[in-house]
Amino acid sequence: MRIRKGDTVEILSGDEKGKRGEVKEVIPGRPNPKNMGKARSKDRVVVAGINLIKKHQRRTGNVSTQAGIIEREASMFASKVALVCPHCGRPTRVGYHFMPDGSKVRYCKKCGEVIG
Ligand SMILES: [Zn+2]
Repeated sequence: MRIRKGDTVEILSGDEKGKRGEVKEVIPGRPNPKNMGKARSKDRVVVAGINLIKKHQRRTGNVSTQAGIIEREASMFASKVALVCPHCGRPTRVGYHFMPDGSKVRYCKKCGEVIG
């Protein structure tokens, strides 16, 4: 997964194309059990302030539960967002460098800087 929690991303398509937000949650795709693990569901991300849906929250016995309509972010396909490079500020594709100790680091394919 090239996108991580805490990254800033830009929306590539849909009504909110061009908007940016911080990744709140990454939901990796899972193998589909109906398909013998051949097809994976797609990776999804939740981006702060993007793809808001109105959710009707029913009042429960718990007084502290907020009732009525609440807005929250819905997840979207990770393929709909691009990582924004913290160095050059542009939406970019991510490459990987291998370090001498075998670990992988991400880098920006536009400016070449390593992304934390
Ligand atoms: Zn860059």
